[in-house]
Amino acid sequence: MFTKDFKEQPYWWEQMPLTTMDDTSLPDNVDIVIVGAGYTGLNAAIQTARGGRKTLVLDAENAGWGASTRNGGQVSTSVKPSYDELKKKHGPEVAYAILNEGCNSLQWTEEFIRSEGIDCNFKVVGRFHAAHNSSQYVKLGKAVDRRISGLETEAYMVPRAEQQAELGTDGYFGGVVFPKHASLHPARYHRGLLNKAMDAGATIISHCPVTDLSREKEGFLVKMPTGILKARQVLIATNGYTGGLTPWHQRRIIPIGSYVIATEALAPEVMDRLMPKDRTVSDTRKVVYYYRPSPDRSRIIFGGRVSLGETNPRASGPLLHHSLSGIFPELTDVKISHSWMGFVAFTFDTLMHVGEDDGLFYSMGYCGSGVGMAGYLGMKVGQQMLGKKEGDTAFNHLKFQTRPLYKGNPWFLSPSVMYYKMRDSINI
Ligand SMILES: Cc1cc2nc3c(=O)[nH]c(=O)nc-3n(C[C@H](O)[C@H](O)[C@H](O)COP(=O)(O)OP(=O)(O)OC[C@H]3O[C@@H](n4cnc5c(N)ncnc54)[C@H](O)[C@@H]3O)c2cc1C
Repeated sequence: MFTKDFKEQPYWWEQMPLTTMDDTSLPDNVDIVIVGAGYTGLNAAIQTARGGRKTLVLDAENAGWGASTRNGGQVSTSVKPSYDELKKKHGPEVAYAILNEGCNSLQWTEEFIRSEGIDCNFKVVGRFHAAHNSSQYVKLGKAVDRRISGLETEAYMVPRAEQQAELGTDGYFGGVVFPKHASLHPARYHRGLLNKAMDAGATIISHCPVTDLSREKEGFLVKMPTGILKARQVLIATNGYTGGLTPWHQRRIIPIGSYVIATEALAPEVMDRLMPKDRTVSDTRKVVYYYRPSPDRSRIIFGGRVSLGETNPRASGPLLHHSLSGIFPELTDVKISHSWMGFVAFTFDTLMHVGEDDGLFYSMGYCGSGVGMAGYLGMKVGQQMLGKKEGDTAFNHLKFQTRPLYKGNPWFLSPSVMYYKMRDSINI
């Protein structure tokens, strides 16, 4: 099952290991403290440091240790609810504005990576979103037909009879292709952002957890085990790793484990048969699978949710392997070289949220689709911290909901995963 050199860590760290940045001593005061050095925090830091603000980014672990170097590297339009669902809750204008942000995030991510020259294997490969039963295929077709003018990138249906041209399996009932969706190497993207933030003048310190935030007359007192400093503004950029530092956010974030494996290197002809177009892939199951070829097309990176509660990567690896072999039976004997997990941040309305409370800013809740969106909203919240009007987003104007008695421990998750797994297994 596992290769001899199997590792319980992201495949991405092989080509781009995390760097430790513990040497810098803490300043006494700064303009801006950013808590969390993932895509959100670093994109915000690039804006604020370029805007002339003394910016300090702190991470409890190595910079990038969170989801930003663990993800699948799929870049999509990121917003989960449909136009109709959003319209029902928020009205047509807000629904349009929210979905438009999804399109903006995809476009911005590509433009930013290209214009900044970030070397991260960014490629517009298109996404194949596969139907796991025939009624889902019909549903996808209706959604493609009813796209709102001006929203969503191109999309076209691929029937089951033509599916092999997209993906070497008969396990699906056709699907939809989004040709503008892209893939990248998550850890290389993260390293590129880290370098850009430092070039702009931001200071980054790793292994420096923020343990307390208290309000001062002007700004905040920020406490770490190694010292205390003053900051005029603070950004909480902790997403799926949001903890007791900010209980208000913790009560609004549902951390969910997502699990990934990398296969051992496969023969080029196998890759060409199974993933002929280099697409990223997702499917219509409620307990979703997402996968793609590695950037060098040597192996398949396969992710999903594996169990009712959280488990460890040694236990999740075989479960994901079983699902992978269900889709591609010829991979039954292929070994796993890497298995890892990370936390995504869901919210009660399955939308991301950005906001401010008197100098305390936040951007989080990307619901498993933050490769484009976390960077885009990090950039936007950075602009907001500079007082720029163009930083405003549709996500600033939504109520960030919680539920009575919810404190950040999603006890309701196991029953709901069980329910959705059951639905998926009987194909509804
Ligand atoms: C396995 C997996 C697969 C995914 N696949 C995809 C995908 O294919 N496409 C997609 O669009 N999205 C995907 N995502 C989601 C995406 O990776 C995230 O939405 C995005 O990386 C969030 O970035 P972030 O900077 O907000 O948070 P993170 O990168 O998670 O960073 C948060 C950081 O905050 C730090 N922190 C927490 N508390 C403190 C504290 N008190 N003091 C200091 N630091 C603190 C943590 O150490 C952590 O490093 C995936 C996520 C996972 C886990």
